[in-house]
Amino acid sequence: MAEKRDYYEVLGVEKNASAEEIKKAYRKKAIQYHPDKNPGDKTAEEKFKEAAEAYEVLSDPQKRQRYDQFGHAGMQGMGGFSGGGMTMEDIFQQFGDVFASAGFDFRDFMGGHGGGSRRVRRGTDLRVKVRLTLEEIATGVDKKIKVRKLVPCTSCNGTGSADGREGETCQQCKGRGVVYRQQRGFLGMMQVQTDCPECHGEGKIIRNKCSKCQGEGVVRDEEIISIQIPAGVAHGMTLTMQGKGNAAPHGGVPGDLLVLIEEEERKDLVRQGDDLIYNLLLDMPTAVLGGQVQIPTLTGDVKITITPGTQPGKVLRMRGKGLPHLDQYGRTYGQGDLLINVGVYIPEHLSKDEQKLIEGLKTSPNIVPGSSEKNFFKNLFC
Ligand SMILES: [Zn+2]
Ligand SMILES: [Zn+2]
Repeated sequence: MAEKRDYYEVLGVEKNASAEEIKKAYRKKAIQYHPDKNPGDKTAEEKFKEAAEAYEVLSDPQKRQRYDQFGHAGMQGMGGFSGGGMTMEDIFQQFGDVFASAGFDFRDFMGGHGGGSRRVRRGTDLRVKVRLTLEEIATGVDKKIKVRKLVPCTSCNGTGSADGREGETCQQCKGRGVVYRQQRGFLGMMQVQTDCPECHGEGKIIRNKCSKCQGEGVVRDEEIISIQIPAGVAHGMTLTMQGKGNAAPHGGVPGDLLVLIEEEERKDLVRQGDDLIYNLLLDMPTAVLGGQVQIPTLTGDVKITITPGTQPGKVLRMRGKGLPHLDQYGRTYGQGDLLINVGVYIPEHLSKDEQKLIEGLKTSPNIVPGSSEKNFFKNLFC
């Protein structure tokens, strides 16, 4: 395979292009190179795929950031799409929204591209949310979730046919699954392919339909799916479980299950990347005299020693008490820290006695700022 071109170069956009500019540029390339406008042109097809691949990465903020950082090497081994492995079918399925948002349906425009051969149906993707505590994220966790989804019909083994026989070839499309019609598009009149309305793109028609699934080959059911969530995941990440989505009608390829990670917030510990932040408010005597305080961590409370004369604004670091680092290859290594922001509580309301106590301090030689230096010099020169 030839050297991969830079994704920005492929789409003809600047490195700092906005999401909208990238989308526009991709639309332009997709129209220019789309297979129905360039029948049998392998170069155009390659360019079309190249643009789709570039868009797939650059339209996803996370992938784009990784690409900016590591280039093509950073894209290897990514869940889902690792470059070059995209079929035309994938492209049509995934990028419909790009064109839909421009006021027309990309899939309709592209039609059922596939050189006239029967298309393999792919089940749709399913999305689920999984809520995790920081403790679960720290260690990684196996979650079992109940998913309502389409599964192959057991009565007909997913064929949709009551007698188990394959369907008859569709007369309208001669088994090709697509029909052609003239349509006025944005580039003038053109011939578009669409799914055959008679057989819905299957190319075959089942006469004796299975009664359980009405000939669909799939039924709605529940499945318990266990998901291994690696340590170090973050809010908003999506894990792709290939083939765990909806089953496709008549024994096609099942879709994927997309697991969206949600993180339960804690009041005391705030996540910042792999680090955790804890705001510690000391009382004045402890800040001045030192002492022991309890700090919450993901593995339970820990006592730490506050040294005498601890200043507000000081940051204490508990190494390794943060979250594990998850790299772009899905591997976990290293550990973040727990950062303790030290503040000192200044009381707002005092009793008469307390007021006296504090007032008494005002005249005390070590209380006013700069007094320790004065004393230092005094000790040095006197
Ligand atoms: Zn059935
Ligand atoms: Zn047909």
